[in-house]
Amino acid sequence: MGHNYAVVLAGGKGTRMGSDIPKQYIQINGRPVLYYSLSVFEECPFIDEIILVTIKKDVEYCMEEIVRPNDFSKVRHVVAGGRERYESVYSGLRTIEQTDGYVFIHDGARPCINQRLLDILYDDVIKYKTSVAAVRAKDTVKISDGSSFVVNTPERDNVWIVQTPQVFETRAILEAYEKMMRLLREGKSPLNITDDAMVMENFGTCKVRLTEAFYGNIKVTTAEDLFTVQNILKNAKN
Ligand code: C5P
Repeated sequence: MGHNYAVVLAGGKGTRMGSDIPKQYIQINGRPVLYYSLSVFEECPFIDEIILVTIKKDVEYCMEEIVRPNDFSKVRHVVAGGRERYESVYSGLRTIEQTDGYVFIHDGARPCINQRLLDILYDDVIKYKTSVAAVRAKDTVKISDGSSFVVNTPERDNVWIVQTPQVFETRAILEAYEKMMRLLREGKSPLNITDDAMVMENFGTCKVRLTEAFYGNIKVTTAEDLFTVQNILKNAKN
């Protein structure tokens, strides 16, 4: 059995939230947003270790205010992230010591995950080498030219909205990230990297497999998302 990691990202500034505190620390039902996904990984039988990535100045705060008081014993490292999300992920991945298992990369701003979702992602990653939480698009999606004029309309049956966790063989995603970072240092990667699947698609060796998740696995982005998340978490508890 390999050693499995969760890399939980809380290194964003959450500027779209319009709030003074980063969204990962906003309280929902008496707990910070970040608490919820950490507790699901903490309880998960096949996760051995959690790496929490946060803003440099918040490393101490996360340790003292979130990790210790909640006895998150699987969180062995709290590390500083970077300016972009992919830099934060890379910083988390670099602390990994055992590369023989899987890594679940997750946005700390998505508090509604549950054990059932982790189970189906784990089954899929064992079968297909990658497993990315996603839902089928309910709306028609348009691709625009950057000036709000439509270029084309992908067939809706094949359009998915991608979430996290995104799960990979640790060795394979590390190699893909190393390759991308090398190209970036040489000024060669013009892509705007917004998720980890993109890193695997462009710099890795495994095909990315989408795993059907659920619509409630939303990312707290704007103030109104807080109400939605509050309700989802309340209902999940009952
Ligand atoms: O900004 P966005 O909502 O896409 O961020 C998704 C997740 O990535 C959030 O949990 C955020 O805290 C994290 N992030 C990060 N480092 C960054 C930017 C975002 O860890 N530089």
